[in-house]
Amino acid sequence: MDLSVIFLGTGGSVPSARRATACVLIRSGGARILIDAGEGAQRQMINSTGLIQVDDVYITHFHADHYLGLPGLLKTYDLMERQKPLRIIGPPGLIALFEALRLIFGRLRYEVELIELGPGEGVTHDGFEMRAFGVEHLMRALGFAYVEPERPGRFDVDAARGLGITDPHDFGRLQRGETISVNGSEVRPDQVMGEPRQGRKVVITGDTGPCEMTRIAAHAAQLLVHDGTFAIDQSTRAAETGHSTARDAAQLAADAEVEMLAIVHVSSRYNVSAVLNEARQVFPNTVAARDFDLVEIPFPERGEPQLVQEGAKHRPEPQAEPTPAP
Ligand SMILES: [Zn+2]
Ligand SMILES: [Zn+2]
Repeated sequence: MDLSVIFLGTGGSVPSARRATACVLIRSGGARILIDAGEGAQRQMINSTGLIQVDDVYITHFHADHYLGLPGLLKTYDLMERQKPLRIIGPPGLIALFEALRLIFGRLRYEVELIELGPGEGVTHDGFEMRAFGVEHLMRALGFAYVEPERPGRFDVDAARGLGITDPHDFGRLQRGETISVNGSEVRPDQVMGEPRQGRKVVITGDTGPCEMTRIAAHAAQLLVHDGTFAIDQSTRAAETGHSTARDAAQLAADAEVEMLAIVHVSSRYNVSAVLNEARQVFPNTVAARDFDLVEIPFPERGEPQLVQEGAKHRPEPQAEPTPAP
């Protein structure tokens, strides 16, 4: 199953010429999930992947730079005569926010399901789960962890043949965990199956100071997307505003033993490469994702996550539904 993370908005608090505000798209097999929908989210899609009919939108918290793109996207989906339901998931307060936003987008002709989640709660998807964890920001805020279940170990065909198993049906039964009988003796799955293989994990913190919950949620993740709003010279301000320095994020990535760190939400006051260098001194495999960058995440045994610059533009999605006439 292909898994990639697409950065549609990497700016902090306010948009700049090159960076839109918070928005990340997870593509997992056929699933399309948006984490935050900052201002202009739909244009960011149009300028890269094409306007995707996402299945779910997760909102980390209710600062405007994380949801202002939602009304426009919802309205456009309606104009495109979207049929399939849309789920919007966020911390408590989501339903009240939605009532207020309804004044902007009016009536929608497709179903919208709103789910308020607390820390520790999750939503099950086909082939993975999205788990919410509490982060430390100025208001109630969640981070989200994309977590795949463990996969069965690799089936060792040679070992099975060595034990006298030749029937493909028996291969299947062993792979499903059944013990079988061959020539009067029993063969257990663990005789022909390798160790269970780790699923993949991607963690997106939203806005937060460095916190223990992120370290736990992100343990051994392939990719951690973390708030890196400030440089070290503003560490006091980072603490006051519930944000992290890029170096804080790097320390957390090191402690959580993740494979790759992507810092986002970098304040527009900075030269990003200077901030990135501060982080890399602590955690070398740090990237400062730009809008339209993409990270491909193979299964752990097949390699490490790879940053593809402007990768969202290279792989235009087939448009799910035709664009309406103007
Ligand atoms: Zn923000
Ligand atoms: Zn915020």
